[in-house]
Amino acid sequence: MFDSLSDRLGTVFDRLRGRGALSEQDVRDAMREVRVALLEADVALPVVRRFIDAVTEKAIGQDVLRSVTPGQQVVKIVDDELVDMLGGTEVEGLTLDAKPPVVIMMVGLQGSGKTTTTAKLGKLLKEKHGKKALMASLDVNRPAAQEQLAVLGEQISVATLPIVQGQQPVDIARRAMDAAKLQAADILLLDTAGRLHVDEALMAEMKAVASVSTPTEVLLVVDSLTGQDAVNVAQSFSGEVPLTGVVLTRMDGDARGGAALSMRYVTGKPIKFAGTGEKLDAIEAFDPKRVAGRILG
Ligand code: GDP
Repeated sequence: MFDSLSDRLGTVFDRLRGRGALSEQDVRDAMREVRVALLEADVALPVVRRFIDAVTEKAIGQDVLRSVTPGQQVVKIVDDELVDMLGGTEVEGLTLDAKPPVVIMMVGLQGSGKTTTTAKLGKLLKEKHGKKALMASLDVNRPAAQEQLAVLGEQISVATLPIVQGQQPVDIARRAMDAAKLQAADILLLDTAGRLHVDEALMAEMKAVASVSTPTEVLLVVDSLTGQDAVNVAQSFSGEVPLTGVVLTRMDGDARGGAALSMRYVTGKPIKFAGTGEKLDAIEAFDPKRVAGRILG
């Protein structure tokens, strides 16, 4: 995860740490290299600017340069700012204490990993939180999307809503609500349709589904490999539906990190989970401190 960014930053910081004394110019030179590394990692420009300004101001403005270990202190400042950029020191979990069935609505573009993530969450909620979940696919666009969720549900022994051919998403959502109540499910996971691009029809469908199911969580699933595009998709969605968080998939293959590092600042939405593989237990609560630790090695 983020290996190329981590390598680039590692080289800069090893050099800083190795120096006994640091001048203002040394810090500025190092920050120039960090700037290039972040831009190459596909981090959004305003985020890079804010980061570099914050680190430079803290490193130069305080007593850091006169201290005994200036290099280490600069690296500590970078670490703190990275954590901030990734969302702060809190791990943002799911709100599960609303009146059951708590509805978690999954939204996103086709191929982002939405269906897989729905099943991953079903499994996680069952195994780690002891919750009884019902999963329902509202995706009537992609052939076999509903069957895909049913197959995954069987693999993890989490119930799925029986498929009624020809039923439209809002009606499926209503039927899912009724079924969840009848089965006394704690959680209802709604896997909504995705499209190749954000468009009006998709947004209208999301809003209609949200209005009949009143979700506690609306999670946007985006592919971290798409970098700034993932952030743009998040911006488009958050203008239309009240997102409560983001799930970044394919973090296992993301050497760059641009989506993770830009998401919070650009969209204001927390990254709640990271998908780290194709298997159904490959999901982690997104912990900014741990991710920053991985980046800085
Ligand atoms: P959807 O169209 O958004 O529902 O996407 P799918 O859930 O069908 O996922 C598309 C592909 O991405 C599948 O082959 C998944 O196995 C794969 N996938 C989903 N999440 C991850 C992840 O976190 N890491 C990796 N490596 N693959 C993933």
